[in-house]
Amino acid sequence: MDPLMRCGLSPFIGLYEAPHVPGGYVMLPGMRAQLAGAVQVVRDREELKKGIADLYDESSKMWEGLWGEHMHHGFYDPGLPGSVAHHRRAQLRMIEETLSFAGVTEDSSKWPKRVVDVGCGIGGSSRYLAKKYGAQCQGITLSPVQAQRAQALAVAEGLADKVSFQVADALDQPFPDGHFDLVWSMESGEHMPDKNKFVSELTRVAAPGATIIIVTWCHRDLSQSEDSLKPDEITLLNKICNAYYLPEWCSPSDYVKIAESLSLKDIKTADWSDNVAPFWPAVIQSAFTWKGFISLLRSGWKSIKGALVMPLMIEGYNKKLIKFTIITCRKPE
Ligand code: SAH
Repeated sequence: MDPLMRCGLSPFIGLYEAPHVPGGYVMLPGMRAQLAGAVQVVRDREELKKGIADLYDESSKMWEGLWGEHMHHGFYDPGLPGSVAHHRRAQLRMIEETLSFAGVTEDSSKWPKRVVDVGCGIGGSSRYLAKKYGAQCQGITLSPVQAQRAQALAVAEGLADKVSFQVADALDQPFPDGHFDLVWSMESGEHMPDKNKFVSELTRVAAPGATIIIVTWCHRDLSQSEDSLKPDEITLLNKICNAYYLPEWCSPSDYVKIAESLSLKDIKTADWSDNVAPFWPAVIQSAFTWKGFISLLRSGWKSIKGALVMPLMIEGYNKKLIKFTIITCRKPE
């Protein structure tokens, strides 16, 4: 039986691989109820992967030009908006807050030596961690353009012997069991069509005692009386999913249940939604500069569609529907 079914998660996770449909997904009954009245593009696994690869192939250059090498939210003190430089600092702070929350030690004798960056973008986190810890970092992305650019930046920064990047699927990682002492996934989990398989793969490649970090977009936890989100919430999320090539979302407690089902230890989560609040308004502002507008038009239709739903991210946060979540845990020794 599907382990998620066992812990009652299936209706919230969404699309499941159908054993009788090669590479395809079926919708479970609870999922149909969730989608009632909403328009969602249901993509099979290969379609989803291609969409994600194309989206990032198309948009990464534009993002780098406007925002630099980190393709993730910034971490802010709530209520303090600021300049673009401030936003870039906030993105670095996101990495530092994440490491600190996960308890990655400042003690140099215990620094991570082998890091995997799952959903690495153009490698900003990998290079940061390689420099900070002197670690060997291996990044994977679905986008060939990102992998190539990440490698070029590594060479330019003299880090070619420390970091490497390749096109590979987070759900089927090209790494041996128990290889990494830090497993890092910064804002890629929301793209994963099978959260159970995702966390299982993170766990498989983790060495005994390794720290596993997932920073990701979740929907709010359901109350005890609810068995799904409200129809208007589902409609809002589906619009975001369609534009950003995201499958069905899950909640922070769904992640905790998955981690528990894999016997992971020291499971901790936090809701950082208030700390990321200034981010999307700033991204929208940057898209409305002359430079932003031109590079958006040059990037192509997928990027434009992405830009058009940016206000919905803000709406989702304001409605307390979208939860920017960190989940950290440790693989048992
Ligand atoms: N972590 C990066 C990039 C976040 S953007 C950063 O913080 O800068 C999301 C990334 O997840 C993209 O690089 C995308 O290619 C990757 N991704 C999405 N689904 C994936 C999958 N199934 N396997 C590997 N990478 C994936």
